[in-house]
Amino acid sequence: MAEVTQHVPDPGEHLIRYYGFYSNKSRGLRAKGQPASTAAPNSAPAPSGKQARKRWAALIKQVYEIDPLSCPNCGGEMKVISFIERNQSAVIERILRHCGLWEEAPARAPPPVRQTVTV
Ligand SMILES: [Zn+2]
Repeated sequence: MAEVTQHVPDPGEHLIRYYGFYSNKSRGLRAKGQPASTAAPNSAPAPSGKQARKRWAALIKQVYEIDPLSCPNCGGEMKVISFIERNQSAVIERILRHCGLWEEAPARAPPPVRQTVTV
């Protein structure tokens, strides 16, 4: 029984504890107009373009264990020269046709005709 009840808090015991930005000290300092020692979550300055590229590449490398900016042929460093978005389908098709990677989607068969059985 002691194993089961050890998770039940005593009466009046604090169940929620706040740390960092939401801690009482940090909120008190903000209320007085002083900057808290811990920075607000979104107060970090935006990274420069070069830093953002490195972070993006570092995240891809961390997750997929592949360096997205190294050339698969020679291992040299590649640079992002442009972004293509989803709504630029004509550009995507033109690039894939140039690379010989464009495949026409096979025509879909019409849906099967349902036959109703009457009894
Ligand atoms: Zn290369």
